[in-house]
Amino acid sequence: MYEKITPPTTGSVVTFKDGKPIVPDDPIVPFIRGDGTGVDIWPATQKVIDAAVKSAYGDRRKINWFKIYAGDEACQLYGTYQYLPEDTLKAIKEYGIAIKGPLTTPIGGGIRSLNVALRQINELYACIRPCRYYPGTPSPHKYPEQLDVIVYRENTEDIYLGIEWCQGSEIADKLIHILNNELIPASPEHGSKRIRPDSGIGIKPISKTGSQRLIGLAIEHALKLPKPKQKVTLVHKGNIMKFTEGAFRDWGYELATTEFRSSCVTERESWILSNKESNPEITIEDNARKIEPGYDALTEDKQAQIRSEVKDTLDAIWETHGNGKWKDLVMVEDRIADSIFQQIQTRPGEYSILATMNLNGDYLSDAAAAVVGGLGMGPGANIGDRCAIFEATHGTAPKHAGLDRINPGSLILSGMMMLEYMGWQEAADLIAGAIGKAISDRQVTYDLARMMNPPVEPLKCSEFAQAIVDRF
Ligand code: NAP
Repeated sequence: MYEKITPPTTGSVVTFKDGKPIVPDDPIVPFIRGDGTGVDIWPATQKVIDAAVKSAYGDRRKINWFKIYAGDEACQLYGTYQYLPEDTLKAIKEYGIAIKGPLTTPIGGGIRSLNVALRQINELYACIRPCRYYPGTPSPHKYPEQLDVIVYRENTEDIYLGIEWCQGSEIADKLIHILNNELIPASPEHGSKRIRPDSGIGIKPISKTGSQRLIGLAIEHALKLPKPKQKVTLVHKGNIMKFTEGAFRDWGYELATTEFRSSCVTERESWILSNKESNPEITIEDNARKIEPGYDALTEDKQAQIRSEVKDTLDAIWETHGNGKWKDLVMVEDRIADSIFQQIQTRPGEYSILATMNLNGDYLSDAAAAVVGGLGMGPGANIGDRCAIFEATHGTAPKHAGLDRINPGSLILSGMMMLEYMGWQEAADLIAGAIGKAISDRQVTYDLARMMNPPVEPLKCSEFAQAIVDRF
């Protein structure tokens, strides 16, 4: 029983098996309209999704929408500070798949971020943000069509867990005291480092469990892609933060070379194998020299380590992965976070799935969206093993709220992801085709119109939705 909402009287419940949804032809899907521009983009999105389902399946399939509340709209119905009512959490749990507009980050309420809370409460551990170019979309980049990446962002931990204490608070002071007087002095590798007494303190936990379940999902996705895109890049800042970001990278490689051994090759392994393929007589030492630039300048210990890496790799996988067999497998590589920001600009075509921790993924997905047309074209999905919530990458864009002018593309594309997740691929394909056609016909909202040359008169938000529907 719900306190203030009533589920639709028709429709069935989505269930989950082994982390995958089992979707009936008449699923009940809860939606949150969202704050700010949610009033504009949600109705536009709902119209496009319903029309796509109708076009693809006639009366055979239909979504039964269930309106639920969060954010400012929830406070109006449930009372002050009731940003995320129990009813809403219960409905998402019960029906499994939901879609939401953007939500304002509350000021003064108990919740730090509704979006982050929804992800944490429902264990939606993977935030998936595809950035793909639709021909005709104006872009600041010269070759936006070369970028086709999917950011797999860990969604439940990192600094985003929100465990932090304000400068001057009792706990911050206590922690600083313990760190400065006990823990840091007991760790000789930290030398004479000390934390300034007037610091705020945040905790950055990165777990093996959280990292590997995210990277596992990314690898599974890569396995379904066509060959040149079967690649997972682990993005990290492990050169500086060894035990958090560096561990994320190491756990990623560990997973790829154990659980996914028969379907993955790491970048370094591929070098070792191809060195032997091009010269079957190559010695372990020469192979080590080729994979490690500056090998001759290394210490004997370090050189021995590289030689062991070469030998162990050949012993372990030459039979199964050698003689070019590795070329048919998913490539797992890693890149330093700052370098990937410039690489998606300078060599966009080289990347496919970017597996990241929480904060890096938040930055990177906006940067990648900018290449392919901006936030108005940036969709997203938050996926767990028993629940999924679809939402745009951007926020409430309050200055555009209620003006019927913002680009609904990001939420419409999130709806398209939802249809794909449900297995309703025909309806999803209709949306992808029609949105691309609308843009190449220069039927776009203000954000894309202002970048077009020659200039074009922008459509309203609702008119853009209609332009998509007209092109199914
Ligand atoms: P924002 O809402 O993402 O908007 C910033 C700017 O991005 C807009 O002014 C607009 O730029 C552009 N933009 C956003 N959505 C667009 C769309 N659909 N089409 C075209 N352009 C779009 O960021 P913010 O103003 O910093 O954040 C506002 C609130 O949203 C905050 O309370 C924040 O916490 C919240 N937020 C929520 C979510 C979420 O619900 N998942 C995510 C991020 C932020 P121009 O004006 O230049 O055209």
